[in-house]
Amino acid sequence: MKKILAGYLRFRKDVFPQWKNHFHLLADLQAPDVLFITCADSRVDPNLILQAAPGDLFICRNVGNVVPPVGQTPGGVSATVEYAVKVLQVQHVIICGHSDCGAVKALLDKKDMSKLPLTNTWLKYVEAAWKYRNPSDPMGDHAAQHTALIQANVIAQLHNLKTHPEVASALAKRTLQVHGWYYDILTGAIQSYDQESRRFVPLEELTFA
Ligand code: ZN
Repeated sequence: MKKILAGYLRFRKDVFPQWKNHFHLLADLQAPDVLFITCADSRVDPNLILQAAPGDLFICRNVGNVVPPVGQTPGGVSATVEYAVKVLQVQHVIICGHSDCGAVKALLDKKDMSKLPLTNTWLKYVEAAWKYRNPSDPMGDHAAQHTALIQANVIAQLHNLKTHPEVASALAKRTLQVHGWYYDILTGAIQSYDQESRRFVPLEELTFA
């Protein structure tokens, strides 16, 4: 906790003064273009990896970067999606999974989750990942299987996202685009799901409007 408090003091003293004008503009209004949904994992830092400034990203984080399908018990993720799309009118929703994701590993290794009943219930949403595994993926070693399942989970959550009526409506009107990403903690590289080839390709290879 000492480290956290020292960081806060440094922020107030050294960093905030440099950002004062930026925060002055943001104090009464936010207009982010992007809803970024990712895992709660401490190693994934959306603002750092995208070099985004405060105000750029509307961020929703949870274990396993899950978006429950519409019709399930409404929760924080669904409310965040609704607000981002209907009120903030974001132009992009990005669902970003990451390497070494513990949520997906629990699924892959069929871990006994009986002592974590809430996590266990939440991770039921990740089970859909099995359905979206690319059948042409070679059944490699454990690490390769883990990566394939993390990427399949991103695709599964993209499908869930599209079940939300406000998302479906904005997609139909072409005012919204959705993206599935995979972030590699070791290299810092991002891959994006290409719907046509059904493959994750380096983000640098794609162009965005
Ligand atoms: Zn994770």
